[in-house]
Amino acid sequence: MELVAPNLWRIRGLIGDSLNVYYSDGVLIDAATRWHSRYLRSRLRGRPVHLIALTHCHPDHQGAAWFLSRHFRAPIACHQADVAATEGRAPMQPDTFIVNRLGRLLAGPPCRVGVVLRDGDDIRGFRVIHAPGHTPGQVIFFREADRVAIIGDVLANLSFVRMRPGLRLPPRAFCSDARQNIDSVEKLAALKPSLVLFGHGPPLTRVEQLPWFVERLRRKWSRGSV
Ligand SMILES: [Zn+2]
Ligand SMILES: [Zn+2]
Repeated sequence: MELVAPNLWRIRGLIGDSLNVYYSDGVLIDAATRWHSRYLRSRLRGRPVHLIALTHCHPDHQGAAWFLSRHFRAPIACHQADVAATEGRAPMQPDTFIVNRLGRLLAGPPCRVGVVLRDGDDIRGFRVIHAPGHTPGQVIFFREADRVAIIGDVLANLSFVRMRPGLRLPPRAFCSDARQNIDSVEKLAALKPSLVLFGHGPPLTRVEQLPWFVERLRRKWSRGSV
């Protein structure tokens, strides 16, 4: 576990910075893939988990949630717009071949959602900010006290081809509404975070990159090249 901000830890997945899970004050944020269940339990040894809060319902974020929920007797939380997918009553979004394929490979069993999140809720000092587009129920967990943002897949800080850091939009093929996700990126930048923590990639401390990225994005979008 790596301390990334006061009382907030990052647990890196099995391969470098490719996949992250976070832990703060008894709350586990995201649950990687189903293959990470034992690994996450070993990293969390000796720490209580009272809640497993998902940034969104995708196979690489909900994978170990069912197993960890049973192990820690902790409920699962996600935004109301991702509840049906998390509970297995609707397909994960977007409902495409590639997401379904990855689902079969990486997803864990459907989980009952014990805590339904809504925009503005408070989870142990983190405000829930609805930031749809990657999935309908994607959220940002934003800690007002020090302006730390845990953003799931609103953006990645990783080139998936070269596995090097760098701000990226999530691939369109994995977004329920790519245009709406750009609005969510703008929403993130407007929060003026002091630290951005991603589902994929290392933490972003040079946060001045964020408004530059948004500006580039706006120009590209107006040219129709995003
Ligand atoms: Zn995702
Ligand atoms: Zn992801």
